[in-house]
Amino acid sequence: MRGIAHFTSAMILPKATRLTPEQLTEVTGIVTEFGCKIQQIVGAVRTIYAIVGDEREELMINRLEGLDYVDRIDRIQSPFKLMDKRSDLASHRITIGGVTLGEELFVIAGACTIDPKNPNYFYETAAAVKESGANALRGGVWKPRTNPYSFQGDVKSLDILMEASRRTGLPVDTEVMEEAHITLALAAGVHTLQIGARNALNYSLLRAVGKAIAERDTVVLLKRSIHMGPLSEFISAAEYIAAFGNPNVILCPRGTTPTLDGYRNHPDESITPLLKEKTWAPVVVDPSHSVGKATYVPAAALAAVAYGADGLCIEAHVEPTKGIGDDPKQALTPEVLRKTIAQARQLWEIRRK
Ligand code: PEP
Ligand code: MN
Repeated sequence: MRGIAHFTSAMILPKATRLTPEQLTEVTGIVTEFGCKIQQIVGAVRTIYAIVGDEREELMINRLEGLDYVDRIDRIQSPFKLMDKRSDLASHRITIGGVTLGEELFVIAGACTIDPKNPNYFYETAAAVKESGANALRGGVWKPRTNPYSFQGDVKSLDILMEASRRTGLPVDTEVMEEAHITLALAAGVHTLQIGARNALNYSLLRAVGKAIAERDTVVLLKRSIHMGPLSEFISAAEYIAAFGNPNVILCPRGTTPTLDGYRNHPDESITPLLKEKTWAPVVVDPSHSVGKATYVPAAALAAVAYGADGLCIEAHVEPTKGIGDDPKQALTPEVLRKTIAQARQLWEIRRK
């Protein structure tokens, strides 16, 4: 059963990796008597069952605990029960294009914005991204622009993105800003949906994404919101998505405001160890929007890895001056991208030792 998890603070952990259909029916029957519902959260290793509703009813909990196939009822006190490091989902691993986050430094690279009038720039960028050793390709189809008169993106770029994915064999990431984008991106086969910094606290969009990916293995790259909000707010935004059943959410610090004079934002890769203390979610840092200028990006990327990031999301373009969106100012050239990824991977290995 899928649905909105308004209120989840107790989880049923079965002894086996999941309940059988008969056991699920029995458990559902019990919680229904108390006006609650069961929300399945499907992890890579096991499925857990959130009780949605007023689950504090002691009698209901006692009856569930008495079932011989139930290991325990988890009632961790956390605003983000699923994303919490103490959650049973802590053993969940996210895999994109056959690579499991945490097993190697996961690098997403590519253009800020795909130029639909000049698709070859994106195809060449994609080839360079592949050649640089990155794991996934990014390309903006729909763009959240500060200035309403700036290019807002074009749905035609979705075909270009998917064609580049076919040519390189790389999974792709693109930002969605509304439900129609989610539908189109999923239908096209986009592997990772990006929620941008401007929409990071748009709870209707977070719910829509959570619902849309519930039955899929799609991943969400959730940026940290632009304002310097508390970490629990960031992780709770991820919880909104996971609560619908698919916990494949990656946290992406990308710099906050007020800015550090000279940088586009205030670099926040240093929150990585704090996030890792609270949540099991992988952290993929975006150094490009953080500092906002190509010359500063390699250092910011390495800093993120030093702080313990599981991956990087870097803007790159085969010819930055010919790019659109953020590319002229902050995209790395293929040569710098290759060097940055190679150094970042070395640093990642050093950290592992
Ligand atoms: C982007 O990735 O191009 C982008 C707009 O990012 P953010 O939402 O972090 O500004
Ligand atoms: Mn950008």
